[in-house]
Amino acid sequence: MTQPPTLREISCADDYDPNSMPVDRARELIRQFLHPVTLRERVHLRLALNRVLGEDIVSPLDVPGHDNSAMDGWAVRFADLSPDREVTLRRVGESFAGKPSTVTVGRGEAVRIFTGAVMPAGADTVVMQERATEIESGVRVAPGAVSKAGQNRRFAGEDLKRGATVFRSGQPIHAAELGMLASLGINEVLVFRRLRVAFFSTGDELRSLGQPLNAGEIYDSNRYTLYGMLTRMNCDVMDMGVVPDEPRLLEKAFTAAAANADVVITSGGVSVGEADYVKILLDKLGEVLFWKIAMKPGRPLAYGRLGNAHFFGLPGNPVSVMATFYQFVRDALLILQGRRHTTPLPLFKAQLATPIRKAPGRTEFQRGVLEAGPDGALRVRTTGNQGSGVLSSMSQANCFIVLATDTGDLEAGAAVEVQPFEGLL
Ligand code: AMP
Ligand code: MG
Repeated sequence: MTQPPTLREISCADDYDPNSMPVDRARELIRQFLHPVTLRERVHLRLALNRVLGEDIVSPLDVPGHDNSAMDGWAVRFADLSPDREVTLRRVGESFAGKPSTVTVGRGEAVRIFTGAVMPAGADTVVMQERATEIESGVRVAPGAVSKAGQNRRFAGEDLKRGATVFRSGQPIHAAELGMLASLGINEVLVFRRLRVAFFSTGDELRSLGQPLNAGEIYDSNRYTLYGMLTRMNCDVMDMGVVPDEPRLLEKAFTAAAANADVVITSGGVSVGEADYVKILLDKLGEVLFWKIAMKPGRPLAYGRLGNAHFFGLPGNPVSVMATFYQFVRDALLILQGRRHTTPLPLFKAQLATPIRKAPGRTEFQRGVLEAGPDGALRVRTTGNQGSGVLSSMSQANCFIVLATDTGDLEAGAAVEVQPFEGLL
């Protein structure tokens, strides 16, 4: 087995440039160090929502369990019908959902049937009631009321087959999966344990809510956006507050966070000028790489290990926090949570409704509003001021407009790539 490289080996690779790290390359490098959680627990179905399945699920039964009607109407033999003349059939019984009929439909006969009711023996097709006229002795079926045998009939096991693997371990459980598990009669499942994520903000200028602001101070907002995004990803969060730019206090915070969490996230303090003592500190406590990501917003980023924990040092600017979370932290958390398939957020093309200014050199994640134009085609406009401190741009936007490194200014009408937000906000 080949061992994954160490952080130090990575930082010695030929194409490794910590001062201009492409987004994809950084994501790839981080991926090599991510090992999903292994501990699992058994939980009641409702509590499995937003968790990751930790076992394969083999269907214990067919869903639906029996052939049944997709319509209210008449269960008939297709051979009795005609494409070009009306036929009259004799009523021999009724089949209700949950109350099957015991009769066998013979030649020239029909059973009144309702949606979800078991198909009676002998019948192979259902005529919807709108194409039939009930009469005293039975029913008159319009010519060509059905076009083929088996119409309006749902087959046993057509959704889930008994003995088939319905889900593999690593499947995220959302509303549809809850419903499918319930349809199989399964009320408890094994899921991977939740990730514990500790986070704190760094900066002498930051105050927590409830404290008065002195001149030049600001409220710490990053802990709230991080709390929101992490909670939306169903992590077990540990908010460790604000830590001033002071080595002794930072060391304490890093140590405590690493001892108690799978992932440690900080914001601020990793940009040029501030990095030095954080760097020295993190070198002492773990193994951390500092990168200038070739992206805007979100240039400085630190990634590495603190004890057994993964460490993400995000930039301080509020928009940068969210952009780097979306591009790096999200991907890492999905993998660590034990998901089978993880992909970066999808990109697709839309037409630019407003011009865009951009200098070549970095990948930009401008905030955009994606909507359908009068012709129904997708168009996107920017939210205006793209400053990395303008958090309202994230609130107004519903997507990133992703502009490749070499892209320069763009005119309205140009095709651009957009990446819709994913409900983490
Ligand atoms: P830094 O990366 O520490 O140089 O911070 C960059 C910018 O983001 C500065 O304007 C900081 O005041 C601001 N900032 C840093 N942390 C936070 C925070 N937790 N909440 C709001 N703004 C922040
Ligand atoms: Mg700072």
